[in-house]
Amino acid sequence: MNRKIILLLTVSTGLPHVAAGQSTATSAPVTDISYEVTFTRPNADRRLVSSAMTFTVGGTAPVILSLPVWTPGAYEIANFARNISGFSAEEAGNSLSWDKVDPDTWRVRPRGAGEVTVRFDYQADSLDNAASWSRPDFLLFNGTNLFLYPEGRGLDFPATVSVNAETGWKIVTGMTSAGPRRFAASNYHDLVDMPFFVGQFDLDSAQISGTWVRFATYPSGSVTGGARVAVWEALKRVIPAEVRVFGEVPWTTYSVLQIADLSYGGGSGLEHQNSHVDVLGPGMLGTPVLPSLYAHEIFHAWNVKRLRPSDLWPYRYDQEQPTPLLWISEGITDYYADLAEVRGGVINATEFYAATNDKIAQVAALPPTALEDASLSTWIHPRDGTEYIYYPKGSLAGFLLDIIIRDATDNRRSLDDVMRALYNTDYKSNRGFTSDEWWSAVSRAANGRSFTDFYARYIDGRDPYPWDAVLPLAGLRLARDTVNEPRLGIGSLQDSTGLHVSEVVPGSAAEAAGVKPGDQLLSVGGFSADDPTWSAKFRAKYGHSPEGSPIPILVRRNGQELALAAKLHYVARVESRLAEDRRASAKARRVREGLLRGTILP
Ligand SMILES: [Zn+2]
Repeated sequence: MNRKIILLLTVSTGLPHVAAGQSTATSAPVTDISYEVTFTRPNADRRLVSSAMTFTVGGTAPVILSLPVWTPGAYEIANFARNISGFSAEEAGNSLSWDKVDPDTWRVRPRGAGEVTVRFDYQADSLDNAASWSRPDFLLFNGTNLFLYPEGRGLDFPATVSVNAETGWKIVTGMTSAGPRRFAASNYHDLVDMPFFVGQFDLDSAQISGTWVRFATYPSGSVTGGARVAVWEALKRVIPAEVRVFGEVPWTTYSVLQIADLSYGGGSGLEHQNSHVDVLGPGMLGTPVLPSLYAHEIFHAWNVKRLRPSDLWPYRYDQEQPTPLLWISEGITDYYADLAEVRGGVINATEFYAATNDKIAQVAALPPTALEDASLSTWIHPRDGTEYIYYPKGSLAGFLLDIIIRDATDNRRSLDDVMRALYNTDYKSNRGFTSDEWWSAVSRAANGRSFTDFYARYIDGRDPYPWDAVLPLAGLRLARDTVNEPRLGIGSLQDSTGLHVSEVVPGSAAEAAGVKPGDQLLSVGGFSADDPTWSAKFRAKYGHSPEGSPIPILVRRNGQELALAAKLHYVARVESRLAEDRRASAKARRVREGLLRGTILP
């Protein structure tokens, strides 16, 4: 994404994941392309945004126009064309005939040389940072939702966008201003990589690393006073730490676009080349997750928006674009988000170890999954829990590689050298990087050391990571304790109607008692599921009871209350803790300090 799903409780939108298919037709040439987006109070009342595309044609040959099926960064087919209504085309006041070539492609038949305008309405009611969402005084839109492109004519065409909105409403976008409420892009990739906020929202800006950063928040008043000061403090710490990795700021201005809404569970961000969009549930504001989310999305301005796997270069908009290297784009980005926080002083070393340990625990709790496989699979959202494993596991791969490179060079080089080298060669040459280029850069940084075995076991393969061999090189150790805990074996989701069973672990106490996915949990062991502390109370009450002790469970299924009888079952869990090793060598301490401070040598 990409998108960083912060809480595993985030509920899928359930969109059908059907690729619309690529069109093989080629459009007649079109020139002088401009777009007009209209969002006024009457639009807002109907949650519709109007999009118009105007261009010049040279004759009667059919013009074939497509809408993207996905927004880069959000690696899923979203079929935006399903939100379109009222499609029409006209030339010199006459309506033109049109039909569809495929589910997201329209064929328009001009009457002759002249100026053609194509119009449609778009349902802006999806609270998703890859989509479009409106309120009575506000619109978020992504260009992938509203801007058609001519098929088979390349995507290097320049275009302008005019926005019609109520007087007094604000507009924020990463696009270059070309006049009042008018913006310009030199190609389609940039055009659809710069989402818009239109309406009434809070906006301020500050200079960071020599460029202007803007912070736009909807609804007005959602981030004020000390909370807003804290956001700016975090941005002023993490951005310079990230700039130091690459040695340059890639944007002229950067916009953080943030929506907080009661209806949203969890939080997610979606990156762009000079902005990102965060959508947050109400519980997220003011939490330590936010600086981490900002650091992740902003690091993407280098890693994936510019330095990008060759499978994703250039972006294509008509079908899935899988790459086995998404763990580099997402996982390594997540590693650098943690590094930016500790190097910038947002968190301390102990908190960095705790964040890393959380990732180790997340990966340990999931089925062994190769990073390359998980990277490819994200498009189909696997349901075995590994859908987003390439974030924590990819981040840990970055941590291992960083330690190995620093150890091999006595802290003269680091993963930073790999990132900077690829950025300066591949991205600056307008191309993506290949797997070979990545591993060559890693090997070069590590004084020529071979990573063939590392790749086979930990990236292409499913072997557990070699913590006990690698951590001591950075003066760290992973302590492990086995704890026995009473476990029911259910996964649950909270929504406005209550706590619902999302998953029943095979062989668990809950399965034996007859608990089913979809049940609403009313009480467990006598504790009401409405009580947010019920699971802690459950553990306190049953944590020392004998195996097999009775546990009453009350659920609601198909409108009926059902009393189920479970038996207490203990499950062994390995708890790990990442910590500094007091006996670390001077060299290992150099590696550790270099990694935490973003420096090489002592
Ligand atoms: Zn990401």
